[in-house]
Amino acid sequence: MDLIIAANWKMHKNSSETVEYCRAIREDEALFEGVEVLICPPYTVLNKASECLSGSPVKLGAQNMHWEQKGAFTGEIAAPMLLDLGVEYVIIGHSERRHLLNESEIWLQRKVKTALDSGLRPILCVGETENERNEAATEKVLEKQLAGALDGLPPEDIGSGSLVIAYEPVWAIGTGKAASPEDADKAARFIREAVENRYGERAVENLCIQYGGSVKEENIGDFVSFDSIQGALVGGASLKADTFSALIQAARKAV
Ligand code: PEP
Repeated sequence: MDLIIAANWKMHKNSSETVEYCRAIREDEALFEGVEVLICPPYTVLNKASECLSGSPVKLGAQNMHWEQKGAFTGEIAAPMLLDLGVEYVIIGHSERRHLLNESEIWLQRKVKTALDSGLRPILCVGETENERNEAATEKVLEKQLAGALDGLPPEDIGSGSLVIAYEPVWAIGTGKAASPEDADKAARFIREAVENRYGERAVENLCIQYGGSVKEENIGDFVSFDSIQGALVGGASLKADTFSALIQAARKAV
């Protein structure tokens, strides 16, 4: 399975910055062989990014979506709208949405189902807060978040090869304090086991698990050299095309 490395731009970049970034990343795209690279810009520049990435192996992801196909949901974006722009991935349940915007588990479950049914690849984010970690509750939290988002999905959908799960400890996001590679490996193995125990062997056949949280060029290799980790979700270090490209190349060298 190729590594999947995703750039989460969060609420950054206007049109001209998007064009400049996409041009720069395309200059290096031949160096990304063996890695599925994707960029998740804000909705407002998805169209621009889609134009700039046309014909490129670099894929496009969205940072969120609504679970309904259309309707009276002011401010929301539906899966068909994303597909229309050439979007292939969608981040679901990022901790900034779970914790700052109170996204509920039932919403996440609907979103994962809609993404899979629509042909979008969901990147489901799970991870414990600092307090939960200090209380040694990481595994309990992961189990609850996985059940919250995946219960009700057929095991063959979970194991279809479309679902990506990003282990993102909340305390490591944007803090410069990454998890230790050993802890990330332990959590990734726990996630795989928890999914297998709950939904069966088929559910993990093609499951991709990423690590996210202060990943950069200097540490990516330590994470992806574990078999349990097949990529990364990257925030800060993805905002400049050259640092993101260097990170991707460091990941390639490590596997
Ligand atoms: C993220 O946005 O999911 C993330 C992991 O951010 P950072 O790489 O900045 O910690």
